[in-house]
Amino acid sequence: MKTAIIDLAYLLSAVLFVFGLKRMQSPVTARTGNALASLGMLVAVVATLFLQDILSWPLILGGLALGGLIGVALARTVEMTAMPELVAVFNGFGGLASALVSGAELAQYASGDVYGFGAVTAVTIALSILIGTVTFSGSIIANGKLSGWITGSPISFPGLRVLTGLLLVGAGVAFGVMVAYAEAFPTLARPMILAALGLGATALLLGVLLVIPIGGADMPVVVSLLNSYSGLAAAAAGFVLDNTALIVSGTLVGAAGMILTVLMCEAMNRSLANVMLGGFGGGDGPAAGLDVPEGKTVNETSPDDTAILARYADRVVIAPGYGLAVAQAQHEVRELADQLEAQGIEVSYAIHPVAGRMPGHMNVLLAEADVSYEKLYELEDINPEFSTTDLAIVVGANDVVNPAARDDEGSPIYGMPILNVDDADTVVMIKRSLSPGYSGVPNELFYADNTKMLFSDAKEAVAEITDAVKEMEEA
Ligand code: NDP
Repeated sequence: MKTAIIDLAYLLSAVLFVFGLKRMQSPVTARTGNALASLGMLVAVVATLFLQDILSWPLILGGLALGGLIGVALARTVEMTAMPELVAVFNGFGGLASALVSGAELAQYASGDVYGFGAVTAVTIALSILIGTVTFSGSIIANGKLSGWITGSPISFPGLRVLTGLLLVGAGVAFGVMVAYAEAFPTLARPMILAALGLGATALLLGVLLVIPIGGADMPVVVSLLNSYSGLAAAAAGFVLDNTALIVSGTLVGAAGMILTVLMCEAMNRSLANVMLGGFGGGDGPAAGLDVPEGKTVNETSPDDTAILARYADRVVIAPGYGLAVAQAQHEVRELADQLEAQGIEVSYAIHPVAGRMPGHMNVLLAEADVSYEKLYELEDINPEFSTTDLAIVVGANDVVNPAARDDEGSPIYGMPILNVDDADTVVMIKRSLSPGYSGVPNELFYADNTKMLFSDAKEAVAEITDAVKEMEEA
């Protein structure tokens, strides 16, 4: 009876996960999707806690309280721009938790409580330790690169690839020993534990070495990939514990993370192998200040002049990027759009899939400012519209509007689809300097004839443009 109820509860939670994921496909339904998936997790946790013989309530409640407190504190204090590094830490701890759970099963085995698991269980324990530990150390390095306590530049040294290869072989040997040993000596635990510790230590180093040679600009892809790994580690732990809910949720996380990783690579026109081995991108590009390179000319503009351009336009497209997130200019941008729309000017938003530092970054920020989803256009929908656009206002975007990705075959970002803002009659680019974007690739758009640079913090500039538009109406 108890088993039937648990199975039913797990089935219900699996259905809720799937419907939750389905609803996350669109920003309009994402909130309810999140709620459905959370409910699914609650059902699974409650069924596991109350219906399975999980011991030590004080430990469980203590863990819940501590974890809950840390989670609430982080959710309240972490800036939106720091979300990718927070997600990296979450993935890392998810992986570590799976590895520890499997390690605990092994320890229980060693203490004599469980006798003689065979090769299949050994495979699942070893997989969970291997993937979970790689995910942990890789995620901590990804966090360091994103938050700046490790350089964003690719780190390499002679022999790095050989060392990585040797560690891979070492991990393979430890894995093989665990499996073979479980089959041959199912009741002698100590050598098995030694092999598991060896596997964990090797995987820990492997995670570090796999992530340090990757450039800071690619960290969001790495975080997404590690998210997928954390799911696979959890699924493996699910097999170890024979827990269906963990197997299902882990597999879904693994698959969803992998799909997101592939989508991000496609949006940058790069292969996953190129991301992992390419050593591309060095974090923030070198600060170029306002020094115009020899032979180039910059057309500078002001908020007042931009207001005039906007006020006399029929159609304005706003292209936001990472700078919008840094400046937290989303509310000011919406106010400007409201002001222009009140004068009968059509305003839309051009959303590049990798604008900002995480998938959906711009959607989340604009949703926070109550910008209607109907006004957000994806790259392939908005690009044909730029040729009939009077004014494109680029708010803190750089790489995602860099024409080098389209025109310069020698450029490292060549092939990445971009927003063709330069097809508009006039482009106003709001940023503080002539610095390149996150990829570090110079942007010729700054010097184009139809581009006007508005050097300012995005929030201040957009607020000043709005004020100037208002003044024009009142005059
Ligand atoms: P970029 O990093 O290319 O450029 C952002 C620009 O914002 C900078 O050049 C900076 O210029 C400007 N900026 C920073 N702060 C402010 C501020 N307060 N006010 C005004 N401007 C500001 O951003 P994009 O969004 O164009 O491109 C995203 C990059 O991240 C791409 O290279 C993409 O491949 C990469 N990436 C994104 C992922 C994602 O999921 N979103 C995943 C993987 C990679 P200045 O200093 O002069 O102000």
